[in-house]
Amino acid sequence: MTFSLELDEDQRDLRDWVHGFAAEVLRPAASEWDEREETPWPIISEAAKIGLYSFETMATFWADPTGLSMPIANEELFWGDAGIGLAIFGTMLGVAGIFSAGTPDQLAEWVPQCFGDADDPKVAAFAVSEPEAGSDVSSMKVRARYDEAKDEWVLNGQKAWITNGGIANVHVVVASVDPELAARGQAAFVVPPGTPGLESTRKIKKLGLHASHTADIFLDDVRVPGSCLLGGKDKLDERLARARDVKAGKAPQQSRSQAAMQTFELSRPTVGSQAVGIARAAYDYALEYAKNRVQFGRPIIDNQSIAFTLADMKMEIDCARLLVWRAAWMGRNGKPFEAAEGSMSKLKAGEVAVWSAERAVQILGGAGYSREHPVERMYRDAKIFTIFEGTSEIQRLVISRAISGLHIR
Ligand SMILES: Cc1cc2nc3c(=O)[nH]c(=O)nc-3n(C[C@H](O)[C@H](O)[C@H](O)COP(=O)(O)OP(=O)(O)OC[C@H]3O[C@@H](n4cnc5c(N)ncnc54)[C@H](O)[C@@H]3O)c2cc1C
Repeated sequence: MTFSLELDEDQRDLRDWVHGFAAEVLRPAASEWDEREETPWPIISEAAKIGLYSFETMATFWADPTGLSMPIANEELFWGDAGIGLAIFGTMLGVAGIFSAGTPDQLAEWVPQCFGDADDPKVAAFAVSEPEAGSDVSSMKVRARYDEAKDEWVLNGQKAWITNGGIANVHVVVASVDPELAARGQAAFVVPPGTPGLESTRKIKKLGLHASHTADIFLDDVRVPGSCLLGGKDKLDERLARARDVKAGKAPQQSRSQAAMQTFELSRPTVGSQAVGIARAAYDYALEYAKNRVQFGRPIIDNQSIAFTLADMKMEIDCARLLVWRAAWMGRNGKPFEAAEGSMSKLKAGEVAVWSAERAVQILGGAGYSREHPVERMYRDAKIFTIFEGTSEIQRLVISRAISGLHIR
């Protein structure tokens, strides 16, 4: 599929549809759910009822050969509100985990259960981070042990900072099968609804994204059927054998590290598009405010310092979006991320979101610092985009390794 920046009719319809929902449903509710710090189930239900939050809709996003439907929908939703946006689309993290490692049968079984149905929507979680393994996922301590007699996997340990942790219907948990092999000895498991031993006792209070549930989860002898190992046991055994060969110097290392990088590169543009949504929301609000706020007898936008800031905001947001769209197109069309273009998109968009939201607060002055206006919330919400799905420092590490071919530390 060739790359065109002109959206087709379906993409324009999608953008307008999600924008309408974001403007009419998310925006008016954003402040309330930010204050309540609770999962906005009624809004998730509404999204499910109109078909925005559903397995089928996600499948159509993925089917778009340009790769742009996913970032378009995410940008609009997060333009509406990032906290509620993540409460709705946080499920995509778990779905992406199943998608990237699961067999077609596993996809068919588990992805619909991540969403539930319009009358009874559910959410999903993707659990990688741990208290001692954030940026350094290779030091993961959660263990998965195979009980051959029962054909079951037994999971033990603690996960930290998990979006939808404990409230998800389906948890996708990444665990170490062979700690000696570090990241290459890890595998992803589906923990089906209601599995005993998975508990969440601590919901985390955060700077922003208050409508999105973040929690630690504890796995205490959590037993899941052998079929819950994503990709299946034969594939895992093959992968572990290869990794042992690499460790013993019997096979080259590069192909495997590239494969792992490709998986992250695929999901990062989606997160980048969410950051673009917040940045655009802050810019839109600041632009209108600057045109209307009068000081020294004229609108504040008449001052170049304000107008130029808005010009830079617009330019930076467009620049971030272009990087996001390029990476989304590359991912969908199997183009190799030779310069870590997925990481570039997330890095740029995250930093633009933080900068734009901060500039918007400045343009509003005291009003920007108050809860009477939404830019204060956007400022708090934006900050996560330089932290999760790999911090800005980690993105720079990935890009510098990709362009240099060296193991920069
Ligand atoms: C709201 C929220 C939602 C989240 N949702 C999920 C989720 O659903 N699933 C999940 O698995 N995780 C989730 N996370 C966890 C998130 O991915 C981690 O917080 C993130 O990866 C960073 O890990 P850390 O917090 O342990 O920071 P650390 O790894 O401790 O990093 C601390 C600082 O050191 C820097 N640093 C670390 N190593 C290097 C290096 N080599 N070079 C330069 N600088 C370095 C980092 O960039 C950072 O600035 C979530 C976090 C938050 C806050």
